[in-house]
Amino acid sequence: ASSFDAVPLAPTDPLFGLMAAYKADTFDRKVDLGVGAYRDDNAKPWILPVVKKAESILANDPNLNHEYLPIAGLPTFTSAAARLILGSDSPAIVENRVTSVQTISGTGAVHLGALFLAKFFPRPQDQKVLISNPTWANHPQIFSNVGLASTTYPYFDPSTKGLDFDGLCSSLESAPEGSVVLLHACAHNPTGVDPTKEQWKRIAEVIRQKKHFPFFDCAYQGFASGDLDNDAWAIRYFVEEGFELCVAQSFAKNLGLYGERAGCFHFVSPPSPNAQDGIKRIASQLAILQRSEISNPPAYGARIANLVLNDGKLFAEWCENLSEMSGRIKSMRTALHDKLVELGTPGDWSHILKQIGMFSFTGLNEKQVLKLREESHIYLTKNGRISMAGLNTHNVEYFATAVDKVVR
Ligand code: PLP
Repeated sequence: ASSFDAVPLAPTDPLFGLMAAYKADTFDRKVDLGVGAYRDDNAKPWILPVVKKAESILANDPNLNHEYLPIAGLPTFTSAAARLILGSDSPAIVENRVTSVQTISGTGAVHLGALFLAKFFPRPQDQKVLISNPTWANHPQIFSNVGLASTTYPYFDPSTKGLDFDGLCSSLESAPEGSVVLLHACAHNPTGVDPTKEQWKRIAEVIRQKKHFPFFDCAYQGFASGDLDNDAWAIRYFVEEGFELCVAQSFAKNLGLYGERAGCFHFVSPPSPNAQDGIKRIASQLAILQRSEISNPPAYGARIANLVLNDGKLFAEWCENLSEMSGRIKSMRTALHDKLVELGTPGDWSHILKQIGMFSFTGLNEKQVLKLREESHIYLTKNGRISMAGLNTHNVEYFATAVDKVVR
């Protein structure tokens, strides 16, 4: 007998289960709209040309070796990552009240932040982290793994397929004072629905009134609008407003470095004469947490990002690569919308155009999603989310026609 006979069998991760089912499907026109990874117009993974250049620079650098990175990661990478997300003239950077730790991509950054909050955020025992309904499926389990329970605030309004702004605000207003609020910085996953700038200002006001702590998750900077500064607007606004906050930053999508696990966790202290002392103490504790969890972060992806972020020419080329990816996705939104309108598919499909980033919440229900899989070999998550990057000029009409069939 094993001491672990009582271990229950856990369900497989729904998204990775979907990927396996897609892979096993032998139909030649099958379509994968599940996974949140960029695909080119031939449904193939895309290595960004700027990443290829950075890789060849690394391959020819005689000074590189396989030694450990420092505990907090490659310093030139983490400082450039902070400038990228906060803006190089950010008051937090100018006033030295940011600390940055290189993490295992965005997931690791959310985890490190959650771990830090579990240990140091002063809160009543039963206080819950507020996450949007819906949110990235990993959020609740990352927090519960470190002993932080979560509860949801309204986010998506199925009737408009847009933001439930009033529900969101009143939920944050009625939450216990001083709660952690997880916010998607841009390109909300899974809905593709972001607050407008005016709405962000109101959200900031509520968070300030209630003394909540904003925790930004930013997995899609530059990937949403195609513009790095624009996609960082909400975070920069909160920093300008003097909030204490933290940011989980991923380079998986915007550099196409999914497997390299390049990310950063940033903590920003509020402006105060003691801010530098405070940030030093926080940095020292983050270093201990990091040491006990991973010792040192992985070097390869960070080195690529480091080159791209710190070299003007490579950076400019990256911006072009980003517009290519976001531009292709936007053109697929238009193509899908227009085809559904042309087919006279019942319903209003304008949300496809209004939503932003990698994903669209189509409004298709579970029954329709399963029918799409069975009848047309099209794979998407049961909540009706599609990865726009899975659409291309060769399959968008096929998809629209299949959707037309299942909603009639
Ligand atoms: N946060 C959100 C909202 C995401 O959608 C993702 C990726 O899908 C991540 C974080 C983290 O991704 P990664 O760990 O690959 O950087």
